[in-house]
Amino acid sequence: MTEPLVKTDTLADSVPDPALAVLRGTFGFDQFHPHQGEVIRTVIDGGDAIAIMPTGGGKSLCYQIPSLVREGTGVVVSPLIALMKDQVDALRQYGVRAAALHSGLSPADRRGVEHRLLAGDLDMLYVAPEGLLAEPTLALLDKIPIALFAVDEAHCVSRWGHDFRPEYLRLSVLGERFAGVPRVALTATADALTRREIVERLALSGADEHVAGFDRPNIRYMISEAAGGKQALLEFITAKHHGDSGIVYCLARRHVDDTAKWLCGKGLRAVPYHAGLPKAEREHAHNLFVSEDGVIVVATVAFGMGIDKPDVRFVAHLNLPKTIESYYQETGRAGRDGLPASAWMSYGIQDVMMLMQLLQQSEAGEEFKRVEHGKINALMGLCETADCRRRALLGYFGESYERPCGNCDNCLDAPDTWDGAAAVRKALSAVFQTGQRFGVNYVIEVLRGGETDRIRQFRHDRLEIYGAGAEIEVPEWRSVMRQAAAAGLLAPDPEGYGGLRLTEKGRAFARDGGTILLRKLRRKESTRAAAKSSRHKKPAAVGPPLDEADGALFEALRKVRLELARAQQVPPYVIFHDSTLREMTRQRPGDVDSMATIAGVGQVKMQRYGADFLKVIREFET
Ligand code: ADP
Ligand code: ZN
Repeated sequence: MTEPLVKTDTLADSVPDPALAVLRGTFGFDQFHPHQGEVIRTVIDGGDAIAIMPTGGGKSLCYQIPSLVREGTGVVVSPLIALMKDQVDALRQYGVRAAALHSGLSPADRRGVEHRLLAGDLDMLYVAPEGLLAEPTLALLDKIPIALFAVDEAHCVSRWGHDFRPEYLRLSVLGERFAGVPRVALTATADALTRREIVERLALSGADEHVAGFDRPNIRYMISEAAGGKQALLEFITAKHHGDSGIVYCLARRHVDDTAKWLCGKGLRAVPYHAGLPKAEREHAHNLFVSEDGVIVVATVAFGMGIDKPDVRFVAHLNLPKTIESYYQETGRAGRDGLPASAWMSYGIQDVMMLMQLLQQSEAGEEFKRVEHGKINALMGLCETADCRRRALLGYFGESYERPCGNCDNCLDAPDTWDGAAAVRKALSAVFQTGQRFGVNYVIEVLRGGETDRIRQFRHDRLEIYGAGAEIEVPEWRSVMRQAAAAGLLAPDPEGYGGLRLTEKGRAFARDGGTILLRKLRRKESTRAAAKSSRHKKPAAVGPPLDEADGALFEALRKVRLELARAQQVPPYVIFHDSTLREMTRQRPGDVDSMATIAGVGQVKMQRYGADFLKVIREFET
């Protein structure tokens, strides 16, 4: 391994802590994130560990630092080539000797990596699970000292999760074949079931478990009930994230294509991404996203896991995600760098009905359905709550959050509520009287006394409920129906084609009455006004916005970064993160010593790039 590089300003406090020395010297950071230090010290001392940390929590350093401190090469199991490449690129920038072995290498490149490995010339090796478990690779590893094994994205062992990788199940052999080599498993997936599976399937029963909190304070959560779709998305992007990088998630491939085209037509730089596109096109979209500023990827959930990009400023959903877990994971891709970022969602009642219906029609067992149904209800609860979104989200993961967060739509602009009992009873009656087989739109027509052929044909204009809800507008009725579904009073007909029926709870409510507080639909005008007043202002969770002079310097620093990145064909963020450039902007270091104190400026980066960035800062000082 390389000698830990020690930063000049820390030589004085001669603490003999090699982990801290590498954190400061090589990576240029001052302090460990919560739990990082503990995991790192456990592994350095030869113990096994499990690290559950949110995205952006700093999982990579948990195995990178021990790999540098311990003798031998740190071997990292990673599920995606893109992820490996990204990490290797980033490590090389820090002066760490890292390489990846994967199926995309030419035979000559592979031999090169193997040679370096045997020569003791690699601090870290990234491999895919199937590559690692192939006998030739294992035999190769038998010959060299190994610092540790790290299993990244360890939730891939979970059969229940949507990232399941059968090869991950075989990783338990590592503990047997390489007894005595510490192992560390890492994931951002929160739930207790997955955690248990990781322990079992990777044979990590003796491991230290470190679970960090799941809050992502820099992410602003916004969920809008209006099914405004694309137009609302466009307003959100132009008002809050002009020129930023972002991801827009849609459910269907066609919706992805349409939305990307539409956004381009509105002058934004959007590219589609889904499994139905040719590989070359997907790679192009991916590369554009990581190597340029301000690209928006419109995608299905097929896009995301290999994305390490720290400066994704927003994640938008045009449909409901499948569960709260997927919502948390997908939105978690925003703001890894800790700077302000947004999670925005717009959804309609059709989304809810579709989720419920898919579940009811599935072949799965009753137990599984019951669990999944609970998950849909929790998701609806998050979407329809008038309370703090963060509190609802963290509550789902078993974390209590006492105060309102002040950084979600409901905290920033509390929705009005109203006593919805009478309206809900009308809605339930209308569903019941029409025979529990019609969809939302038809039921609303009946409630409002619509004069359509269909209503006349079914003689629903003779019902008692016909026209009894004329005083409430269609969008409000949709909101009432959605909230009634969220409250578990209405559900889609299991046999039918989008028809609604009353649940048991709904029948009781229709019969006995009850209280229900509904959130008022936000009026479009007020949304627009709010968007206008905050135009070009970023959410202010972390750090104050830059003023004009600082903004110009920041842009100049980004320009140098882009040039340096292009010359080496690496993403700009592996040179320096936005957060590092922001700190340079704020502190304006005038010499090498003060430059070295900026977070993210390690010794090697200082040598390579210090002069280029100091030059730009000096130009702005005069
Ligand atoms: P994760 O894999 O948990 O999502 P990463 O390992 O990619 O997170 O780290 C997220 C970001 O935080 C990276 O940009 C990393 O450089 C930075 N980071 C990690 N640890 C620290 C630390 N102790 N101090 C400052 N920044 C850190
Ligand atoms: Zn809140």
